[in-house]
Amino acid sequence: MATIGFIGLGNMGGPMAVNLVKAGHNVTVFDLFPDAMARVVDAGARAAASAKEAVTGAEIVISMLPAGKHVESLFVSGDGLFDVISKGALVIDSSTIDADTAKKVAAVAESKGLQFIDAPVSGGVAGAAAGTLTFIVGGSDEAFSHALPVLQAMGKNIFHAGSVGAGQVAKVCNNMMLGILMAGTAEALNLGIKNGLDPKVLSDIMVNSSGRNWALELYNPVPGVMENAPASREYQGGFMVDLMVKDLGLAQEVSLGSQSATPMGALARNLFNLHAKQGNGRLDFSSIYQFFKQ
Ligand code: NAD
Repeated sequence: MATIGFIGLGNMGGPMAVNLVKAGHNVTVFDLFPDAMARVVDAGARAAASAKEAVTGAEIVISMLPAGKHVESLFVSGDGLFDVISKGALVIDSSTIDADTAKKVAAVAESKGLQFIDAPVSGGVAGAAAGTLTFIVGGSDEAFSHALPVLQAMGKNIFHAGSVGAGQVAKVCNNMMLGILMAGTAEALNLGIKNGLDPKVLSDIMVNSSGRNWALELYNPVPGVMENAPASREYQGGFMVDLMVKDLGLAQEVSLGSQSATPMGALARNLFNLHAKQGNGRLDFSSIYQFFKQ
């Protein structure tokens, strides 16, 4: 079992750290927001008074932070944790951040004798709690093998996408497609409903026809069609519009850097951004249906 320092215990990091404790790892945690540490400490983790304290002596350090600037500040410019973490230790950043920052931070880690992987996740808060997340890893074969047993304590599907940064690129490709699919599904359902179709009947027809997709099949955006979908609980819980806007923005950055055409991704970003600006940023992203309905 490993000695692990875990930084960032929000909606995702909290339950992920709990699963590491349950798997028998020796986990020390830190979050800027003390209340976020309480449930993990209740589960058996040790609370540190600072990020530096949490990573001192750790064999593995895991971070789960909002964005690239937080990751860069934690490890390099602000807290400067790379100067504190023991040589040879493995750093796993599971935040969804821009691939350029992941690569820059990884280069600094390497220069300090540390291993680094980017390991963003898919599966949301429910997947974090159930230990069924999908991890999409960028890094060396050696670092991937080192990380695997720890990632398996928090996730079910662990993919090695390529070298450092590849995890972030694969993650934003997936989420860009998800945003496009959800917007398209909402648009098509709204068209049918406005023309007198029953949403359940139309959903059934499309799920069994060529319009079938993940958003339609498992995450229907129309209230009342699927009992367990966020749409049927006023779009509470699930994956926030603000996070979708963030991920669609990251996809546009990746597309600019590689001069790839992403017109559908750009349109999805504008749609979700407009929806967020209308005060819906904290709702589940399937609430984009309400945007079309208006
Ligand atoms: P969150 O805002 O709930 O949690 C982030 C935590 O990091 C907060 O508790 C904050 O206090 C802490 N933090 C920030 N800077 C810190 C620092 N310097 N030191 C210590 N703690 C610090 O966010 P979340 O929903 O847990 O998401 C985390 C990451 O996972 C994001 O990059 C997000 O895009 C990604 N993600 C989220 C979901 C989801 O459904 N919520 C799904 C997949 C991926």
